[in-house]
Formats: sequence, C-alpha cells, structure tokens
Amino acid sequence: MIPEQAARQAIALAGQGANVSEIARHLGHDRKTIRIYLNGHRAPGQTRPHADSFAPFAAYVRQRAEDDRHLRAIGLHREITALGYAGSYSAFTRELRGHGITAACGTCRKWKPITPAQQRQHCPGPLPFRVVPVAGETIASYLSRVAAASHLPVSAITACLPSWFAARAAACDDLAATGQPQPADIRHLAVLTGTSETALRHSLPALDGTARDSRPPVRSALACRRCASRTGQRGLVPAHLPAHQRACPRHRTWLGRTIQIDLAAAPEIIRASRHASRLASQHGIARLVLAATTARRQAAAAGSPHALRRAGILASSNPGLDPGHPDMTEAAAYPETIKMTTAILNDPSGTPAGPG
Ligand SMILES: [Zn+2]
Ligand SMILES: [Zn+2]
Repeated sequence: MIPEQAARQAIALAGQGANVSEIARHLGHDRKTIRIYLNGHRAPGQTRPHADSFAPFAAYVRQRAEDDRHLRAIGLHREITALGYAGSYSAFTRELRGHGITAACGTCRKWKPITPAQQRQHCPGPLPFRVVPVAGETIASYLSRVAAASHLPVSAITACLPSWFAARAAACDDLAATGQPQPADIRHLAVLTGTSETALRHSLPALDGTARDSRPPVRSALACRRCASRTGQRGLVPAHLPAHQRACPRHRTWLGRTIQIDLAAAPEIIRASRHASRLASQHGIARLVLAATTARRQAAAAGSPHALRRAGILASSNPGLDPGHPDMTEAAAYPETIKMTTAILNDPSGTPAGPG
C-alpha cells in the first residue's frame, strides 16, 4: 500500500500519459505496486486485503460446521468462497486445522453407488395409514414413521420403492449430492403414502434436490415438537432446517441446538424471526448467517438490558428448562442480534452503528 495522495498522483500521471516506470521512479515506489492502482485492483486509500483473510469467516465456518454435521470442508469452502473468501482449498483446510474445526461426520460411510432395483416387490398401493411428513424431515425418519404406522418393517416399505429410497434410508446423510431422485421415484412414494408429490417435495429436503447442484444451506435440528405432534408424531423428528431459521413462527417455539423454548411470552423474538426470514430472501441465507455470527458477538458484548429482561421472561414461562442454557441466552438476545444483523447487511463496509 502507498499513501493515498501518492496513489492519486500515480493515477493522475498515468492520465497525463506517463508510463508505469516513469511514475514508479517519480514517486519512489515499485512498479508492481503502481500497477495495482492503475489497474483499479485497489483504490487509493484502500488498505491491502488482510493477510489473514480467513479471519472474517472463522466464526461463520465454525458455526456452519457445528450446525450441519454433514457439511464437509469442500462444501464449506464453496460457501465462503461465494461470500468473498479468496483462499485456495488447501489454504482453507490449513485454516480449519489451525482453528481446530472439524468438518466431517464421524458416522457417515462412503456412498455406495445405487444399483438398479433388484426384483421390486409389487407396490400394494396406498398404505392404510397416511403419515404426513414434517417440514424438513429426513428420508430415514419419514420412511420409518410410514412403516411404523402400518406395523411394517422399514425394509417392507423400501422393497416396493425405487432403490434410491433404500440407499437414503440407510444413509447417515440423506442430502449428499450423489444421485438425486427422479420424478418417477417421488411419484412412487406419493402413491404408496397417499401424500401429494408437492407436499413430499415441500417437506422432505432430500426430494427437493433435483434442481440444485450442491448441498443447500441447512442445519441439522429436531423438527418443531408441535409441528410434529400435529402429524400425530410424539417422538423426536430429525430434520434439516434452513441454516438461518431459529424458531417455528406457527408455534412460537425456539428451535435451539438441544432444547425447544416456548416463546409465547416474548413476541418480539417471533417478530425478529419473521424479519430474519425476510432478510434471508433479500440477501441469501449464507450472507445472513455470516452477518448474524458477527452480530451475535457484538450483541453479547454490548449486553442489552432488554435481552436480560427477556431471559427472565423466558425462564419463568419455561419453568422446566435450565435458565442458563446457551439456547435460552441466544433466544433472549435474538431481537438485538437481528437488529445488528440488519445494520451489517445494509452497510457493506461491515461497521454497523452501535446498539440503539
Ligand atoms: Zn453422517
Ligand atoms: Zn411448529
């Protein structure tokens, strides 16, 4: 970097017809540096991109790796590259090691290629009990609930479906990019379960992958308890939720990493959650999550009295939950977090106004 004044002078001299060597000699800087300004690769006064260009993404990468245990290093690299990270893949994996971030699911096995269906059993047509899928539900979860409702083993269900389903039901990660379902596969499932193809595609993220070429930005979580019980499901339903989504607005429930919190007493958290959905469609999920990781740290550092008051409200309206649980703290501070997130997204220089 050279002083702003010198950079402007270099550009002015070039405009007057001086060549790079003449300008470099005149200003006493090397030619390579002068060229960076003349090519417009850096504006006068702009600082050199920080040597540790991973730093702005470290918190994002850590959170995404924790939230989606199936997101591998290659997928993480793709996500932050789209957000502006300039490092190569090998530089990125060095950063992961350096920061102690693990991006790999310990229980995933390698994908087996999907073999053409062995003698498929005759499909008995709609099963006697219709099982409504829960938003975000995994294939393994849905098929096991379908089987249980008809008192059948899962293998009896997968035996009369295209082999794609058997592979997914056995897989730890049903969103792996290999082998997307064909429309005919989804039609089969629709006939068997008596549920519309649209409803299946809408609820089961693994079926919605026909149009995309990479893993969607999701987090692994348990589906909203109340959404699940609406479909008659009492147990826990593993789901993929959009990476930014922290609450079920329909049931005013915070969907934390390990607990779900009733938000009826804190309507501003639900309002913030709706606002976050609008930000996601406006700026994209990844950009929103990136801004929110920064905002959460800033909001925590600022220590809002509103968040403290809200933490008290959540504790007394959720007497069974540990008031010091990290999910409780995150929920209580969420309106401030989203307020700061909005400021960051609206100010690309990344310096939002202080809490107000
Ligand atoms: Zn896995
Ligand atoms: Zn719900």
